[in-house]
Amino acid sequence: MPIDANPSPARWERLDAHLGDVGGLTIRRALPTTRRRMVGAWCFLDHAGPADLTPATAMRVGPHPHTGLQTFSWMIEGEILHRDSLGSEQVLRPGQVNLMTAGRGISHSEESQSDRLQLAQLWIALPDHRRQGPPAFEHFPSLPTFPMGGFGATLLVGAFEGHRSPVPSHTPLLGMDLMADAAAEATLLLDPAFEYGVMVLEGRLSAAVNDESTGLSEPGQLLYVAPGAQSLRLISGGGKCRALLLGGPPFPEPVLLWWNFVGRTREEMAAYAAEWNGREDGGVFGQVRGYDGPRLMAPVVPPLKTPTLASGGTGAGGSASSAGSAGSAGSAT
Ligand code: MN
Repeated sequence: MPIDANPSPARWERLDAHLGDVGGLTIRRALPTTRRRMVGAWCFLDHAGPADLTPATAMRVGPHPHTGLQTFSWMIEGEILHRDSLGSEQVLRPGQVNLMTAGRGISHSEESQSDRLQLAQLWIALPDHRRQGPPAFEHFPSLPTFPMGGFGATLLVGAFEGHRSPVPSHTPLLGMDLMADAAAEATLLLDPAFEYGVMVLEGRLSAAVNDESTGLSEPGQLLYVAPGAQSLRLISGGGKCRALLLGGPPFPEPVLLWWNFVGRTREEMAAYAAEWNGREDGGVFGQVRGYDGPRLMAPVVPPLKTPTLASGGTGAGGSASSAGSAGSAGSAT
């Protein structure tokens, strides 16, 4: 283990998520926030629900475009019907992942098909060499599961302790769901090249980074672990507990998020918005068929600062407020 000659920067930090509400559906947005924009290539982390839905509060997100990112949908409770401009039509059920690669452009719609809903809606920034590539959609009906110190683990993306997820990624990435119904404790060996985020979905979880306690985390909080950490001990609060562990090497490119787009400059954003709003046929983003309702139009592009790589490997710049409102909750799905 390397010995730091200098006082080391904080190895971990607990960050509060933004809280939102869309038609009674609580959304906790752990990324982006003012303090942190990314964890590896993970650039947008929403936890929606759990919520009971009525016909009036059903989730109906009309056709909207994406570019420069992958949407990663991990279903916990309920069902969502996904349609996209490639002609995909896929129901997403608990334990399954939908991975939609926007590349240069795609559009999609989403509708709940259940009276109960809970999901993690995550975005992965695509690296420069892939972000102008072709769009794609993949559905993963099952993922590797294995026990880990009293937790049930599901490997969403990446590799961990000899297990490998079928979900591909364009940069090194980890996504793991950890769930316990009773007391559980696990010590995970970390990749020191990765930074990590622990996103608590249910219950309470205490953690220790390199044996240093971080205290308790609960839903609406993201425990950030900086690169260089060797181990992470997770201890459930005793009752039902569920969390996502997300990680990757600090993303090497400055990333700008606005509305449903991931890009690099404001000029790109203006061009994406003009293409989507100005073309009846959706232009490069194409058309979603079968959705009964209007498509969502891009708002006026605000002044956006071209991001730079912040010191400390924070990854992305841009305006947190614009990214926050951008997701405009309803469309950020
Ligand atoms: Mn979307």
